[in-house]
Amino acid sequence: MNRHAWRDHAACIGSGDAMFPDQDKTRIEWARQICAGCPVTQACLRDAIRTKDNQWGVRADLTPEERQSVKKEINRRLRQAQREKTAA
Ligand code: SF4
Repeated sequence: MNRHAWRDHAACIGSGDAMFPDQDKTRIEWARQICAGCPVTQACLRDAIRTKDNQWGVRADLTPEERQSVKKEINRRLRQAQREKTAA
């Protein structure tokens, strides 16, 4: 399967600027509502993390700042797992 095939099922297809609400809280909530009805949220988040897309827009119900926090937490857990593996 095409690595990006999930995008064909994205609820935000055709949403234009709606997924790029800047700091407008009302527009952020609207974008979140679009994500809430999306069947490919997990694939979208994996792609956002993999491609380091954490500067613009709402993806997988997360703002760029929230995606950065998720990425930091993933990295923290990976470092912890590596330390545990090394200590074992
Ligand atoms: S989770 Fe949100 S940003 Fe990602 S594909 Fe679905 S609707 Fe679009």
